[in-house]
Amino acid sequence: MLKLEHVNTYYGNIHALKDVDIEIQDGEIITLIGANGAGKSTTLMSISGVVPIRSGSISLDGEEISQVPTETIVDRGLIQVPEGRHIFPGLTVRENLDMGAFLRNDKEQIKDDIEYVYSLFPILANRRHQMGGTLSGGEQQMLAISRALMARPRILLLDEPSLGLAPIIVQQIFNIIKKINEEQKTTIFLVEQNANLALKTAHRAYVMETGRITQADTTKNLLANDTIREAYLGV
Ligand code: ATP
Repeated sequence: MLKLEHVNTYYGNIHALKDVDIEIQDGEIITLIGANGAGKSTTLMSISGVVPIRSGSISLDGEEISQVPTETIVDRGLIQVPEGRHIFPGLTVRENLDMGAFLRNDKEQIKDDIEYVYSLFPILANRRHQMGGTLSGGEQQMLAISRALMARPRILLLDEPSLGLAPIIVQQIFNIIKKINEEQKTTIFLVEQNANLALKTAHRAYVMETGRITQADTTKNLLANDTIREAYLGV
């Protein structure tokens, strides 16, 4: 569904992504793990067109998207939930959800989808009239994921959904990520520093070190791999 081949991305002289190859099949949960500054966010921003790539290819359903405007990529069903949430603080929960459905005009289905996200995150239903900016960090993350779901993504890109959240909330969010994949058949590309949880959630994983993919395997194999356990799982 989504394929990166020999992708190189630079920030000025900094070579942030080095010959990155990643392949994601329809219906999979794939995770990209790595230390601080490894290049995980840059990978997502290269895919969604926020940062231009210098060479290589990124294709969605076989069509090159690396030179395509971000709005067009969104229109093709690839939606990114950025790190740090970026919800609209001055809009209510409900208004934030409506913004996610901005490009749609199927009013009845939009209503159903709002009910669906409220069923995933009942706390958002209770807070529907509350301003986004007054929600807790965990609730804002839930709202960011829900807003992305309102665009009916075929593939959802998640940047560090665990960042700064209490373990119990993180676990809850990861359970919902699995549920979205199972119930909606949404393909998920999850970028995470919490390797333990990411490897327990995804089907396959890529490991990134200083801009390079150093391992690619099933999460089952990686969880049993001593080098990975020592470097990323602290065991
Ligand atoms: P983290 O988990 O800390 O967010 P990351 O794996 O997502 O890290 P990136 O944010 O992609 O890593 O950063 C990759 C490299 O690119 C780092 O060395 C970083 O300093 C550099 N970098 C990122 N953004 C910029 C920028 N706007 N200008 C210059 N260098 C940047």
